[in-house]
Amino acid sequence: PEAHRTEGSLTLGDIFIAVKTTKRFHQSRVELLLDTWISQASEQTYIFTDEEDGALKRRMGNDLSYDTTFLVHLQPLNCPSLERGSGGHVIFTNCSAEHSHQALSCKMAAEFDAFLASGLSWFCHLDDDNYLNPQALLKLLSSYTETWDVYLGKPSLNRPIRASEMLPNNQTKSVHFWFATGGAGFCISRRLARKMVPWASGRNFLSTSELIRLPDDCTVGYIIECKVGGQLIPSALFHSHLENLQLIPASQLMQQVTLSYGVFENKLNVIELSGPFSPQEDPSRFRSLHCHLYPDTSWCLQGVGW
Ligand code: UDP
Ligand code: MN
Repeated sequence: PEAHRTEGSLTLGDIFIAVKTTKRFHQSRVELLLDTWISQASEQTYIFTDEEDGALKRRMGNDLSYDTTFLVHLQPLNCPSLERGSGGHVIFTNCSAEHSHQALSCKMAAEFDAFLASGLSWFCHLDDDNYLNPQALLKLLSSYTETWDVYLGKPSLNRPIRASEMLPNNQTKSVHFWFATGGAGFCISRRLARKMVPWASGRNFLSTSELIRLPDDCTVGYIIECKVGGQLIPSALFHSHLENLQLIPASQLMQQVTLSYGVFENKLNVIELSGPFSPQEDPSRFRSLHCHLYPDTSWCLQGVGW
C-alpha cells in the first residue's frame, strides 16, 4: 500500500520516533521530554533505555491501552519488555548502561529493529536532549517519499569523514562518507532502511561499527553511503548542542525540526527565548518553546507574560 500513497497524505502515525536514553537521564532529561513534545507525539514515540526504572514505568504506564500487537512483533527481537502509556512507549533493551561504542551501537540496533518490526514508513532517531517539533517534521518528510532512499539530517562535519575499514585479511581500506550527527536527530525512509538490514539489523550493527571503530551515528552514515550507495540529504532544520544554538533567530525557532541544549565550549548552550519561563525555571528553554508552540497547554498559562 505504501507505493500508492499520494503526496501530502503523510501523517504523524506513519513515523517511528526513537529516543535514546540511559537510566541516569530518566529523571533529568526524559521527564522534560514527556512533559513537552512527546505529549504531542506519544503514539509514535519509543524510548530506548538500558535499565528498568519503576518511576519511569509508573509515569508511562498510566494509560491502559497497552499496545499488545506491537509487543508481539518486538518479542522475537530481544526486547524483553515494552511499556505503553500516555507518555509514549519505553523499551528496556539489554544494552549496557555505558557510553561505549558497543553499548550505543546496541541501542541503535534495537531502535532500528523495532522500527522494521513496526511497519511504519519513516524512522527518526533522537537523543534525549532533543526537542522535536512533530508538525515541522511532518512538513519536512512530506516533501519526500518513503519509497525513495532518504537519509535526512544535519551533517556532522562540513566534509566527509575519513575512516579505515578493517578488511578480513587484517588489511585496511580508506573510506569516506557523510553522516548525520546523532545528537541533532536524523530520519531514514523505510525503503532505505530495508536495504540497510544486512549491516544494521541485530548483531550486524555492532560488527559493522567494529569494522570502522566509530560511534553509532557514523556507522549509520557508513552503512548508507559506503554499503548501500545512498546519500545524506543535509537539512538545516536539525540542531545539536555542538552548534551555537543562540544563533537561531527567535522568529525561526518554531519552524525547526529539532533543537537541543547542553554544554558547548564549556558554556551552557541553549536557544534564545525570552519566556514565558525564566532560565532558572527552565534552563533548557524547552518548556518555554513548548508554550510558544502549544499555548493552550495547562502549565503554560501560569508563565509570566501570558
Ligand atoms: N547515552 C546513553 N548511554 C550513556 C550515555 C549517553 O545511551 O552511557 C545517550 C544519552 O541519553 C543521549 C546520547 O547518548 O541520548 C548522547 O549523550 P549525551 O547528550 O550525554 O552526550 P553528548 O554526546 O551529546 O555529549
Ligand atoms: Mn547531548
